[in-house]
Amino acid sequence: MAKASHTRGTYNFSAGPAVLPEEVLREAQEALWDLDATGIGVLEHSHRGGAIDSVFAETEASCRRLAGIPDDYRVLFLQGGASLQFAMLPANFLADDGCADYLETGSWSKKAISEARHYGDVHVAASSADANFTYIPRAADIVYSERPSYVHVTSNNTIFGTQWSAEPPLPDGAWLACDASSDIFSRPLDMRRYGIVYAGAQKNLGPAGVTLVILREDLLERAVRELPTLLGYGIHAKNDSRYNTPPVFGIFVMGRVFQWLERQGGLEAMAQANEAKARLVYDAIDASPFFRGTAREDSRSLMNLTFRAPSEALEATFVADARKAGLDGLKGHRSVGGMRASLYNAFPDEGCEALVSFMREFESRHG
Ligand code: PMP
Repeated sequence: MAKASHTRGTYNFSAGPAVLPEEVLREAQEALWDLDATGIGVLEHSHRGGAIDSVFAETEASCRRLAGIPDDYRVLFLQGGASLQFAMLPANFLADDGCADYLETGSWSKKAISEARHYGDVHVAASSADANFTYIPRAADIVYSERPSYVHVTSNNTIFGTQWSAEPPLPDGAWLACDASSDIFSRPLDMRRYGIVYAGAQKNLGPAGVTLVILREDLLERAVRELPTLLGYGIHAKNDSRYNTPPVFGIFVMGRVFQWLERQGGLEAMAQANEAKARLVYDAIDASPFFRGTAREDSRSLMNLTFRAPSEALEATFVADARKAGLDGLKGHRSVGGMRASLYNAFPDEGCEALVSFMREFESRHG
């Protein structure tokens, strides 16, 4: 089973930026000083020199191996976070007289929807807003529009702690765009089911500042309008993500994270490890009359586990005492309240065990 090591004395449960593998951080430390024995650090190399050519080539190659990305998909390293993708996607693919379908499952989907409305019509094909986004809509409850330009899904809802367990069904001829910011490469990805997958790096992939975009090449021919240069996917694809100066350091770290994931046994092994980690914590929540999960059981996220204690005062004490005990970043998002434990790929098993013991001990003191 995949194991991340832990030697810093604090378990980091932050939702993002988040814990990275120790081995990768050590490699990054070394590369800051001297990249591949060039005598120049990774932050100081020209982005068009040979050393950085190799960083790009290795990062893309390990991404392709890791996730089995088919040859007719492009792998791009962009900037602007997932938030810029909320706008780039419709700017490129939603015509003024077109309609795109969105599955509304939380705050990030809502932001994606409001960006798309700048460009064309948006049809919300399913929503869990009626229950404060505590669940993932059932396939049978999705009602698509006549001919959507694309369908957009947020695979994991970082704030509410819900996750699609599989891709939603699609209407004939439509393609799926996915914001996978908070669960990318936490499990196998069948890229053939998607037109575009995008993710800000700062949860499962590396430092903030680089956005991974994987898109089917034929979509590049389908851009619907003229755009400012940097907003078109085509320009980035044509220039291999180096039209302008790219976030080289983030791309380097991402590449090392991909290689670390390969060494852990790949995405299948990550899925098993992530399930085991989440099960440990959910079992503790379910076994306790004191704590309760906020997401519906069939919709629970394996990445962001949201739960509550009997009162807000106890929750504040829990978060503060946990921090003192070396468990950092457990405060829930303000729109949900309570606690949130983010257990991304690099989060170690021992941290989950430490959380469960802390919960038991807290309950025995305050229950
Ligand atoms: N989508 C999801 C699912 C997220 O969790 C986040 C960030 N927490 C975003 C989008 C926004 O990402 P960024 O800050 O990279 O723009």
